[in-house]
Amino acid sequence: MARIGFIGLGNMGFHMALNLLGKGHVVAGYDRDEGQVAAFGQEGAKVCASAAEAAEDAEFVITMLPDGPVVEEVMLGAGGTAAAMAPGALHIDMSTILPTQSDAIREALAARGVTMIDAPVGRTASEARTGKLLIIVGSDSEQLERARPLFECMGDTIVHCGTAGSGIRMKLVNNYMTTVTNLVTAETLTLAASCGIETATALEVLRGTAAGRGHINTTYPDKVLKGDVTPGFMIALARKDLVLGLKTAEGAGVKLTTGAAALDVYDFAVDAGQGGEDWTSILNIVPDLP
Ligand code: NAD
Repeated sequence: MARIGFIGLGNMGFHMALNLLGKGHVVAGYDRDEGQVAAFGQEGAKVCASAAEAAEDAEFVITMLPDGPVVEEVMLGAGGTAAAMAPGALHIDMSTILPTQSDAIREALAARGVTMIDAPVGRTASEARTGKLLIIVGSDSEQLERARPLFECMGDTIVHCGTAGSGIRMKLVNNYMTTVTNLVTAETLTLAASCGIETATALEVLRGTAAGRGHINTTYPDKVLKGDVTPGFMIALARKDLVLGLKTAEGAGVKLTTGAAALDVYDFAVDAGQGGEDWTSILNIVPDLP
């Protein structure tokens, strides 16, 4: 069983650390919020008065903090966390932070003899609680295998994205899609409601099409990702339907900001002469956008 210093016992970290503890690891926890530290102590874990104290004697130091400046301050700041780490101990940053800042922290730690890998997580606090997170790892294989038993306590899916820095990049790619589709989902349900359609009815329809099932699960694999842009459903017709939806929303006084932005891209595709290609061919348009 490993000795782990866990820094950042918030909505996610608290449960992740508890799952490590529950599987028999020795966990020393720290958070700047004394209430979180006290709650963690009540679960039978060792609690610490500083991040540096949590890092002492640990084989692994895990950070699950709000953003990059906090990770940098905790690891490299005056508190001396990096300096407190034992030789050979591994830093695993599981926070969601700017990739270039992750790179800079990793390089600064390397200069102090500390190896850092990035392992941000997908899913939510609910899966943090049940130990079913998706762990998105950027690491060389040796450090990944070292950390894998810990990841298996916190998640049920571990995806190795490549060398250090690639996990945090993949996480942001994932979050780009989820944050934008969150708004598209909200706009879609608002449009349905403005047309007098029950939400339950809208969900039933949306769950049965690419709208709700997602293009990654439906249209893309057999078309553009295979290099086939012969039309199943033409870009020009998709553009027409988008315009119909925007006009309907306009009539109902609903503002569809992502739809308006999407129309610019469909217009560009049609102007570029690709209106007759399959709508998934929009993938080939995006790199050419001015
Ligand atoms: P949170 O705000 O609940 O937890 C962060 C914890 O860090 C807090 O308890 C805070 O007191 C502590 N903290 C802040 N500064 C500190 C410092 N200097 N020293 C020690 N502790 C400090 O946030 P969260 O929801 O647990 O998210 C943590 C990270 O995980 C974020 O980067 C977030 O983007 C990412 N994430 C969150 C979710 C989610 O659903 N909540 C999902 C995936 C990833």
